[in-house]
Amino acid sequence: MKKIQLRQDDIEEKGGLKSITFTLFKDDSPLWRIRFKSLHEGIESLFNPHLAQFGKMCYEMKGTGFTCPICNSEIDELGLCNCGTGSA
Ligand SMILES: [Zn+2]
Repeated sequence: MKKIQLRQDDIEEKGGLKSITFTLFKDDSPLWRIRFKSLHEGIESLFNPHLAQFGKMCYEMKGTGFTCPICNSEIDELGLCNCGTGSA
């Protein structure tokens, strides 16, 4: 009977970015090694509400250079500002 096993080898963390290595074994000989690297700081960024809603982190948003007359904050690329009037 063939035995297939997935082993987690190590987790490296550098400057908030994580990389995880897995090795797939078949009959105790390594077949595949795969490394996952996080693109954003921390794994928890996957669950960041801003990332989930807009597809990017808040600091990655580009501004339009226009300022909202109501809340005086810069209107971003989605036409949003702090108070929500900028999209109108
Ligand atoms: Zn506003």
